[in-house]
Amino acid sequence: MEINEGKVVDGKHVMIHFVDVGKGNCVIIQFPSGHTTFVDIDNSHTSEENTEPIEYFKSKKMDYNVFRFILTHPDMDHMSGLHELNQKYDIINFWDTENEKKLTEWDNTPYKEEDWDTYQSFKGSESDPKHLEYLRGADQKCCFVGDGITVLSPSYKMLKESKDAPDGDSEKYHHLSYVLMIEYSGLRVLLGGDASKKAWDDILEEWGEDALKANIFLAPHHGSKNNVNEEVFKHIKPDYVIVSVDEGTTYAYNYYNSISTVLTTKHYGTIKVRLQSNGKYTKYLEKNG
Ligand SMILES: [Zn+2]
Repeated sequence: MEINEGKVVDGKHVMIHFVDVGKGNCVIIQFPSGHTTFVDIDNSHTSEENTEPIEYFKSKKMDYNVFRFILTHPDMDHMSGLHELNQKYDIINFWDTENEKKLTEWDNTPYKEEDWDTYQSFKGSESDPKHLEYLRGADQKCCFVGDGITVLSPSYKMLKESKDAPDGDSEKYHHLSYVLMIEYSGLRVLLGGDASKKAWDDILEEWGEDALKANIFLAPHHGSKNNVNEEVFKHIKPDYVIVSVDEGTTYAYNYYNSISTVLTTKHYGTIKVRLQSNGKYTKYLEKNG
C-alpha cells in the first residue's frame, strides 16, 4: 500500500521534467498530491553536457523525498544513480517488474555495480522502499490512480513473453517494460518506457484505440526504430513526441517527424511540461535546439 508522506507542491498543476540525461531515461513528476515520482534514472553520463539527475532534483527544491520510483525495466540506463538517490533521499515506494535478470559484468561498461546491488536489495522489501510489482489494471485508488497514473503495460502475457525469451534477446526486458498514461484535467502524457513492438500490440488489443490518445508521447526505447509500432502509434496522435536520446545517437527521425513535432533531449536539453488545471499545458525547453 502506498502511503502519503509527500508534500503538497501547489495543488494546481502536474509538472513533468524530462531530464536531459543523455543516452538513458529520467522523468521526474510532481503531482498536486506531493507524490514526487521518478520514472527511471541515469547518471552514467557520456558527456559533460548531460544533466546530473540528482543535482537537478536538488536544484529544483522538490527533494523532500521520492514518494515513488518507477523502474520501467531492469536495464542499467534506467537505474544508474539509484544507489546515490537511495542514500540521499527516502524512497517510499519502488515499482519494479517481475524479472530474474542477473548482471555480473561491469568492466567496459559505464555502469556501477552499486546501482545494481541497490536494485537487488529492494526486492521483497516491505518498507523504505516498499517493493511493488504492478501489472496492467492494477488499482490503488488511494495513490497512483488518484495521481492519474494508469498502468497500460506490462500484462501477465508480456511477463511470460519476457520469461520465455532467451537470454541475449534484445527485447527480453522490453516486453515487460512499464508503459504509463498520466492524466490530469483532460490532458494525457504517455510514457513509453522501452516497450517492445509486441508489448504495444498487446496494449492496443487490451485497451483499444482511444485509450492510446495522448498530448505528449515519450517515445519508447530512446526513439529506436526497433521499437516503432506504426499500427499502434497512429492512434496516439500526439502534439509532441519527446525522445530521450544522446548526442551522436540516431533515432527513428523520419517516422516520428512524420507523426508529430519532435523534441529531443539532445537538441532541447531538459524538457518540462506543466499540465494545468484549466486543461491547457505549457512546455519549457532548456535549449533552443
Ligand atoms: Zn533504455
